[in-house]
Amino acid sequence: MMGLGRKRALPKIVRVRGGIPGDGFQRLDPDSPGARKRLKRAREMLLQCVVCPRMCAAARLAGESGTCRSGGDLRVASWNLHHGEEPPISGTGGSGTVFLSGCSLRCVYCQNYPISQMGVGDVVTVPDLVTIMLKLERSGAHNINFVTPTHYTPALIEAILEARHQGLSIPIVWNTSGYERVETLKLLEGLVDVYLADMRYGEAEPGKQYSKADDYPTVNRAAIQEMHRQVGTLQIDDEGVATRGLLVRHLVLPGGLSGSEQVFRFLAEEISPETHVSLMSQYFPAHQVGDHPLLGRRLTAEEYEQALAALTAAGLTQGFRQGP
Ligand code: SF4
Repeated sequence: MMGLGRKRALPKIVRVRGGIPGDGFQRLDPDSPGARKRLKRAREMLLQCVVCPRMCAAARLAGESGTCRSGGDLRVASWNLHHGEEPPISGTGGSGTVFLSGCSLRCVYCQNYPISQMGVGDVVTVPDLVTIMLKLERSGAHNINFVTPTHYTPALIEAILEARHQGLSIPIVWNTSGYERVETLKLLEGLVDVYLADMRYGEAEPGKQYSKADDYPTVNRAAIQEMHRQVGTLQIDDEGVATRGLLVRHLVLPGGLSGSEQVFRFLAEEISPETHVSLMSQYFPAHQVGDHPLLGRRLTAEEYEQALAALTAAGLTQGFRQGP
């Protein structure tokens, strides 16, 4: 979920009109009984935590933590205007990025591991986070971009509702590993405008070996379906900025470990050939994989070209590619 460097658009980005998924999208009224009910349900999920697919049952509010190594407090590693995301996310003014600490995946090659797995970050209260969100909007951010948000869903629901109550108007981007429970995602309906979601693996074995999640493909596909149901395909305004929809990120791993063909076939056949895909080449060995026979090297140009060919063969024409 790191920012992208230089990118070239695949065929020209078009504004997508119509289509059934996402057509009924409406922002949730922050002062409605429905909003209060949503928040109550989200908080209850923390008692014996079932926020993410790990279902650890950790008593988060009592300070226990599960696989995500996050307790009851919200921790933020940094926040800023970020210009390195995909063009419709960064736009010209930047994306209002909030990097959250911890992660429910345990990727051995994580490029953000000090933040995701070593606890780098400071405790931030929900009112503090709301202040940050409003400051980012005033600074010209096109959106509020929560990076690795899943394990903090309850606190983030509270922050989004309060920020909307105080007048925040820009879209919320949920920048996720894609390892999400459908039940939890349903709580975000009408609160998240843009899902910027990874599809990391097309097969179970690499998910088990390299992210400690052998159910990743099954869980991830159900999550992508739910995200698409809520927000539909990516909508881009006349300024080239995303207003709503799904944008899938696929980081190509060395040795074919990311299962690109399976991922793209699923998107084309089960979601929509109009799905925007950001095909990422930025993999480099980090964290625990310096000597790994497959993951201990960068991606070759040939491997990236193979993934690009699989994308084209699947009939997915919308999205972005990263420069070599
Ligand atoms: S959010 Fe954390 S504590 Fe809760 S189920 Fe997931 S990994 Fe476990």
